[in-house]
Amino acid sequence: MSSHHETFAALLTPPGRGAVAVVHVAGPAAVAAVDRCFRAANGPPLAQQPFGAIRFGRWSSETGEEVVVCRTADDRVEVHCHGGDAAPRAVLDDLAAAGCTVREWSGHSNDADSLIEVEARRALADCVTDRAAAVLLDQLGGALAEAVADARRTLAAGKTDDAADQVAALLALGPLGRRLTSGWRVVIAGRPNVGKSSLMNAIVGYRRAIVFDEPGVTRDVVSEVAAIEGWPVELSDTAGLRDTDDPLEAASAQRARAAIESADLVLLVEAFGEPITPGTSSAEDLCERLGLPTPSKPIRVANKADLAMAGCEPGGEAMAVSATTGAGLAELVAAIGRRLVPDPPPPGRAVPFTARQQERLTRAAAAIDLGDLEQADGHLQAVLAPAD
Ligand code: GDP
Repeated sequence: MSSHHETFAALLTPPGRGAVAVVHVAGPAAVAAVDRCFRAANGPPLAQQPFGAIRFGRWSSETGEEVVVCRTADDRVEVHCHGGDAAPRAVLDDLAAAGCTVREWSGHSNDADSLIEVEARRALADCVTDRAAAVLLDQLGGALAEAVADARRTLAAGKTDDAADQVAALLALGPLGRRLTSGWRVVIAGRPNVGKSSLMNAIVGYRRAIVFDEPGVTRDVVSEVAAIEGWPVELSDTAGLRDTDDPLEAASAQRARAAIESADLVLLVEAFGEPITPGTSSAEDLCERLGLPTPSKPIRVANKADLAMAGCEPGGEAMAVSATTGAGLAELVAAIGRRLVPDPPPPGRAVPFTARQQERLTRAAAAIDLGDLEQADGHLQAVLAPAD
């Protein structure tokens, strides 16, 4: 349980390498705690400094770390020290000795009113793209809370069918909500040497997977996170898929299969102008031949379009691209975005984004279905629980 009388310190910047780290100190004893540790290079103690004044000085721990400190409110102070692990750790240790409770950033919710707000802040900390952040900011701003409160009002007014529709509309956006932080998973699959690694590098924008002329050299599943149309997407380049007796390749093909099974979308890559596997024409045929689970609606990609003879068209539905020249890549990326998020939520739309919220909404929907309106309301109310 957090208390509003507690004074806490939290590292706001991500752990690990960085030029500067920021420690946030908040609570009734924040200024006194920092004053026990900080000596301004010139000037009075922090308690006598005006709000917003930026003061350089020394942190009086054994390290004598140089820091910049700012009192932002009566009960709030920011300490900026060197980045990395040691300097912020020393600052936090001294603040703990001065009576502060040290918290993880994700538990930094002292001034949050609701659990949704706490969850939104956590999700925002894990969020890597602007579009996902915009959706989460809407929820932090109250979009989800308002929609759930509205469904409760509808239920209380006896409009059960309408309430069921409102809850169903929220649940429909659940899969999108969960991926705002976890990212969508896209797997690049196909035979060796068709250019899967090159394609992944081209999409991600820099070289990461090994590219080699000898078939079968990319033995493992290599993943990178990219922003595709503003959404977070983990792209995985699988080992070349083919029947083999080589146990090493067989093991990596097994991992490729597992990746395909859990993917949101599979790009089935072939080399331009070549049939994907001699004697096969459809994605289903190919997957069957390779003993793979058939991905639902893969995007077929014909790579190496730059090698195509004039007038030559890729077979079937394949999108023609060249990982080497970049031709067709913008269209491919747009197609991936459309497939992953066919119906992007408009600004301000309520989106449930955690397992907790979705489970409560699912149970509310089931209770409405069974006519147990009291229980349904209880689940909706639970979505709106206060921060503890
Ligand atoms: P993977 O085994 O499917 O991952 O294929 P790689 O990405 O390792 O590429 C195999 C070979 O094809 C390498 O020599 C690449 O340089 C080449 N390659 C990949 N994409 C293209 C392309 O779009 N055009 C051309 N001309 N060569 C390509």
